[in-house]
Amino acid sequence: MVESKDDGSRIERGAGIAGDMGSQKALQKCDDEELRRQREEMVARQIAARDIHDPRVLSAMRAIPRHRFVPPERIGEAYADTALPIGYGQTISQPFIVADMLAELALTGDEKVLEVGAGSGYAAALLGQLARQVIAIERIPALAERARRTLADLGITNVEIRCGDGTRGAPEDAPFDAILVSAGGRKVPKALIEQLAPGGRMVIPIGDPFLGQHLTRIVKDAKTGRLHEEVREAVRFVPLIGDDDDLA
Ligand code: SAM
Repeated sequence: MVESKDDGSRIERGAGIAGDMGSQKALQKCDDEELRRQREEMVARQIAARDIHDPRVLSAMRAIPRHRFVPPERIGEAYADTALPIGYGQTISQPFIVADMLAELALTGDEKVLEVGAGSGYAAALLGQLARQVIAIERIPALAERARRTLADLGITNVEIRCGDGTRGAPEDAPFDAILVSAGGRKVPKALIEQLAPGGRMVIPIGDPFLGQHLTRIVKDAKTGRLHEEVREAVRFVPLIGDDDDLA
């Protein structure tokens, strides 16, 4: 289980508390319980209360410890209702937006999923709870490496983090039943449309990263291959940076 490896040791050092092993263990347990309580509250107040009721999404959000995906100095804010910096000018997205995007993918557990913009690896870890296999691509090598380590520490084995330009997708592993794009571009990368399976769902923020983006849900018709696009709420994501100049 994910939770059993949640050692919390960085929290103890961050709090500047020394002491014998017994009291450190007691403190760690107390921190774990407090963080778990905060996570439950996050799910209840920020997600379920805002009309996200997919029980699989709610239970994934309860299971994955967001505090393990934020920098040590941000652990105290890990369950706040906000995006947080993760270094290299990038962010871990607001929990509600992540839950909303996951719910829109309507995963049942047997899918192969692609994420573009793995960042900290948090959304990829959640996808790992909701689908059979996840490939998540991150363009910044240091973030990709850190995400890989976090997932390994948590014992998550069905999520693979790759480093590279995710706008090209992963042609050798296509088609994907679902694609989550966690950075915002002006248009949907062509390769991702091609790599979406018939009946597949994609969720992507589309628009100008500075002037305004909207979460967009695209479904590829299982029979005709035609795309159905639904533009949803306004969002603000960091730019999707790819080879294609028109993208961001
Ligand atoms: N899903 C992430 C998480 O849970 O932490 C948050 C993603 S952050 C909002 C967006 C990420 O997309 C950044 O880490 C950025 O480096 C990455 N990114 C931007 N363009 C990309 C591209 N073409 N391929 C792969 N990653 C990209």
